[in-house]
Amino acid sequence: MASYLKSTPTRDGFFGKYGGAMLPPPLIPHFKEIGEAYDKLSKSSEFVRDLRYIRKHFQGRPTPISHFSNLSDICGGAQIYGKREDLNHTGAHKLNHCMAEGLLAKYMGKTKLMAETGAGQHGVALATAAAYFGMECEIHMGEIDIAKEAPNVTRMKLLGATVVPVGFGGRSLKEAVDSAFGAYIPQADTTLFAIGSVVGPHPFPLMVRNFQHVVGIEAREQFMDMTGGLPDMVTACVGGGSNAMGLFAGFIDDEEVSLHGVEPMGTSSNLGDHAATISFGEDGDIHGFHTLLLKDKDGEPAPVHTIASGLDYPGVGPEHAHLSTTGRVNYTAANDKEALNAFYALSRHEGIIPALESAHAVAFAMREAKNNPGKSILLNLSGRGDKDIDYVTETFGYSVDD
Ligand SMILES: *Cc1c(COP(=O)(O)O)cnc(C)c1O
Repeated sequence: MASYLKSTPTRDGFFGKYGGAMLPPPLIPHFKEIGEAYDKLSKSSEFVRDLRYIRKHFQGRPTPISHFSNLSDICGGAQIYGKREDLNHTGAHKLNHCMAEGLLAKYMGKTKLMAETGAGQHGVALATAAAYFGMECEIHMGEIDIAKEAPNVTRMKLLGATVVPVGFGGRSLKEAVDSAFGAYIPQADTTLFAIGSVVGPHPFPLMVRNFQHVVGIEAREQFMDMTGGLPDMVTACVGGGSNAMGLFAGFIDDEEVSLHGVEPMGTSSNLGDHAATISFGEDGDIHGFHTLLLKDKDGEPAPVHTIASGLDYPGVGPEHAHLSTTGRVNYTAANDKEALNAFYALSRHEGIIPALESAHAVAFAMREAKNNPGKSILLNLSGRGDKDIDYVTETFGYSVDD
C-alpha cells in the first residue's frame, strides 16, 4: 500500500508547492518526451525485467544490511544498522538511478547520455552506464573540480566519456549545470540529459526517487527478516536528496518509523560555511524547479561549504522541501567535525571506510543512539570512502587525536 508514493508528486511534478518544471522553451518538448516515456516504461514488464537483471547481475544487488554492533556498544543506547549502498558497483547509490536512466535512454532510442558533475561521482556513475549500454557520454565539469578530483576525471575518461571543462564564473558545479544545459539543447533529439539526484525539473525528482526506491524496498524486507520488526528511526544524508528519498520511500507509509534527513553543517551556521538548505533556506528557484534555497543578499544561490563535496549544493530536492513542511521527515544537521569523527569510528570499529557524505548519517546515528536506549536506527551507508582517504589523512591524520 504505497499510498504516499502513488499520490505524490502531482501529474505536473509538484510536491506541495515545491517542484515543477521551469524550462527554456526549446527544452519543454524534450522534458515532456522524457516524462511520457518514463510513465509508459515504468509500467512495462519488459523494462522492469531488464532493470532487475542489471541490478542483480551488474550492480550486485541486493546490497545487505549490516548490524554495527561494535559501534552500537561504544555509543551505548540504540542498535545501529547500515544499508550497504557502498557495496554497489562503483561504490555508491548513484548507480541505482544512472543505470535506470541509461536503460530509459536505450528504450527511447537515444544514443548518448550527458550530465554535469561536481566531485565527479555522478559523472563516473553515468559514464559507467554509458559504457554498459554502448552509448556516448558527455560530462560537464568545472575547472576547479577537475583539478581537485583528478582520479574521477581519469575514471570517466577510461570509461569512454568526454569531459568538458567549464571555465566561467566560479568554475564549479553550478556553472557545470549551466554549461551542460546549454550544450544539451542542440543535441536533445539524440541525447538524454541524466540528472544526478532528486533535483531539476519534473520528471527527474519523481523518476530518480522511484529508481532509488529499490534501496528502501530491500531494506524494509531485510530489516524485518533480521530483527522481526521495523526500525524505530531511519536516517540518511541529504545533498540533493536521492539516497535519502530512496531509503525513506520504503518506510514513508509506516507512521511508527521516524525519518531523519541529515544536512551538512560544514564549519559553522554562518551563510557560506555550510550547505544545510532545509535548516536555513528560503523558498526560491534553482535549475528549473521551486524549492528551498540558500540565498545570498542579492537573492542568488549562495556559496556553500561542506567537507563532503557530494553534499555541496545550495538547493535541495523539492520532495525534501515538501516533507519538511508536512513534518513527515525531520531534518537536522551534522558538521564537518562530527562527520570526520564518524568516518574514523566506522573505519576503526566496523571495518568499513564510509564516504564523507554517508559519514553525516553515521554521525547522526552515533549522536542519537545515546538518547534512544533499546531502539533501533537504520542508516543509509550511501557510499564507500576510498575517494576520500587521501584528503582525510593528508589533512587530518589517521584518527581524531592526530
Ligand atoms: C553524491 C553522493 C551523495 C549525495 O547525493 P544525494 O542525492 O543527496 O543522495 C551522498 N552520498 C554519496 C556517497 C554520494 O556519492
